[in-house]
Amino acid sequence: MSIYDQVEIEDMLYDSDQQLFTYPCPCGDKFQITLVDLLDGENVAVCPSCSLMIQVIFEPEDLEEVAAESGLEVPASQQVAASA
Ligand SMILES: [Zn+2]
Repeated sequence: MSIYDQVEIEDMLYDSDQQLFTYPCPCGDKFQITLVDLLDGENVAVCPSCSLMIQVIFEPEDLEEVAAESGLEVPASQQVAASA
């Protein structure tokens, strides 16, 4: 598995309707990862057109903020991790 780049979650674009984070891919399409995937511990966003991948850099607090705005429950495991 090869990672094209590492991107801070603040630099990604968030679509609150789809609960989807995107970041421009050099091929003209966008890397995509959903908020649910991130909350699940996933941190690799894939471009559907060219299969390039980026690693998303984030803190649990960043996700909690977005999840709260989206009306999502933060999984208990994340809350434990954040309070440690
Ligand atoms: Zn691409």
